[in-house]
Amino acid sequence: PLVTRRDAIGALILRADAGTFDSQKDRELLNFVATQVAIAVERGQLRAELVHAAQYDELTGLPNRRLFHERLDRALGRSQRRQGRMALLYVDIDDFKKVNDTLGHAAGDLLLQEIARRLGGCVRHVDTVARLGGDEFVVIIEDIHGPADAAQVAEKIRHSLLQAFAIGGVPLHTRASIGVAIHPEDGRDADALLKRADSAMYQGKVLGRPR
Ligand code: GH3
Ligand code: MG
Repeated sequence: PLVTRRDAIGALILRADAGTFDSQKDRELLNFVATQVAIAVERGQLRAELVHAAQYDELTGLPNRRLFHERLDRALGRSQRRQGRMALLYVDIDDFKKVNDTLGHAAGDLLLQEIARRLGGCVRHVDTVARLGGDEFVVIIEDIHGPADAAQVAEKIRHSLLQAFAIGGVPLHTRASIGVAIHPEDGRDADALLKRADSAMYQGKVLGRPR
């Protein structure tokens, strides 16, 4: 058997002519080999878990800030080579603190997970939805024709997040502020694009606030 500290993960099967591995010494050697194989497999699994934890957000399972920046750089490179256009959407939930304050932090966590799921449902598989932290999400949309395409996705997201969430059996209503930046018109590099989308989001939030 291949046994790690956590679990039995399989078996090492050796095929040999009858009588070849019959002695106590042979069995000890096979056990030693099985232990070494199990350790190697476990190391591989731990490494894969570490790599995943470094790239994905634990709460929502979305790419985290680090992976987002890698994806954005690659998307920008592709957009430049093709002389095409891509969009960056910056999404921040309005009054999210109220959810924590009224329903508790655990309900806030559930809402963030549900928001992440809905965001994923608004874009194509090739697009990236990432969580920057807190209630801030970003979306990379590649190969768009112009601002109208990005505005359409932003509208789809806004509409999707306006639908009531059922958190702990209670219908919950949220609103999102979304800022859009288009490459190359609104910025040529990741920093400029992100700043532009963030400030567009912020302006929309301030304007959308009831006075
Ligand atoms: P605004 O309308 O200006 O966006 O205000 P807001 O209440 O949404 O607050 P803001 O966006 O400035 O900050 C997000 C808040 O979300 C801060 C913190 O209380 C809460 N928060 C951040 N991370 C988590 C998390 O992982 N889980 C939960 N439940 N809450 C979080
Ligand atoms: Mg917010």
